[in-house]
Amino acid sequence: MADRALIVPDASLALSEHALAIGQEFPNVETCRRTLKDIAIALHFDLRIVKSDRSRFIAKCSKVGCPWRVHVAKCPGVPTFSIRTLHGEHTCEGVHNLHHQQASVGWVARSVEARIRDNPQFKPKEILQDIRDRHGMIEISQDVIPWFQDFSPQLWAVAYFEGMRFGHFTLGVTELLYNWALECHELPVVQMMEHIRLQLTSWFNNRREIGMSWTSILVPSAEKRVLEAIADAPCYQVLRANEVEFEIVSTERTNIVDISSRVCSCRRWQLNGLPCAHAAAALISCGQNAHVFAEPCFTVASYRETYSEMINPIPDKSQWRELGEGTEGGVARVDISIRPPKTRRPPGRPKKKVLRVENFKRPKRVVQCGRCHLLGHSQKKCTMPN
Ligand SMILES: [Zn+2]
Ligand SMILES: [Zn+2]
Ligand SMILES: [Zn+2]
Repeated sequence: MADRALIVPDASLALSEHALAIGQEFPNVETCRRTLKDIAIALHFDLRIVKSDRSRFIAKCSKVGCPWRVHVAKCPGVPTFSIRTLHGEHTCEGVHNLHHQQASVGWVARSVEARIRDNPQFKPKEILQDIRDRHGMIEISQDVIPWFQDFSPQLWAVAYFEGMRFGHFTLGVTELLYNWALECHELPVVQMMEHIRLQLTSWFNNRREIGMSWTSILVPSAEKRVLEAIADAPCYQVLRANEVEFEIVSTERTNIVDISSRVCSCRRWQLNGLPCAHAAAALISCGQNAHVFAEPCFTVASYRETYSEMINPIPDKSQWRELGEGTEGGVARVDISIRPPKTRRPPGRPKKKVLRVENFKRPKRVVQCGRCHLLGHSQKKCTMPN
């Protein structure tokens, strides 16, 4: 599966392009500094400037223990600088993430300047991708690659998930409901039930009204996604293979769509239950309405049906009938006294256990190592070899 392979830039290729040599000249100190910065980025190391003045430029690799070092000095009588000493071999592993210290604003600006001149429509996302493509910056640790290879993709990639996710990812539905009924946790059981019943009644009523106000086939969130897919559909060339199968061609790839089994080779249709842009292109080409090909759960009709059932009102407690009351002849009157369960009360004040949804939502602070710049550990706990 070529598609699954992780692309790691070839360092040897970058090396040949960015070789330095003793005696190499730069027209001025600015060019020298810029060239060295470009090399540092291409080869994934941080440059530490030891000295930079009118007569010399000395820089080393920032990794402790790495011998890489360059000494450039001014040639007498001309603005030219030349490399005098050079230890060109790194023993460090280099910097393999995007928090690259040499990638300053100025560097990024210079490297995209020419491309923006060629194409004024160049978007920020494309600029970033272009820098990655040309300089091979990768965001992941090298250690992670064997891990990915050991576990099958359906365990970590949404695209390979077996089954339908309907585009949803929720951690802890129970906590959400718990929080929803938080106010009534302290109430006696009858009042608690009553509180939940009232809340459900207003919930159903509100949603029933919202559902009735919609005039589309699909609920708004699904409608929006299908409209986006339809908007993207004209980008594709559609080739019809037979009654139900289509080949959807774009500049990057070809996808196969089957409208009868509702699948696309990009897997989005079967994962989300909503037609992807390829599916929309195929459906439009044969005069079908893409909205109708969404899973039934996304329709307004299903939404209305969900909240169509009534929650019956309960009369006041004073109106409740006693057990056995009203039975013919009164013979069925039963005396049942329900005893509380036998429990032993533990010593001390009872602990209050409250799960709060906010705790699940609050993003954890992510530490970044000051030494290797990777996320998830501090400098003190860094285990990266020098
Ligand atoms: Zn180094
Ligand atoms: Zn698709
Ligand atoms: Zn580290």
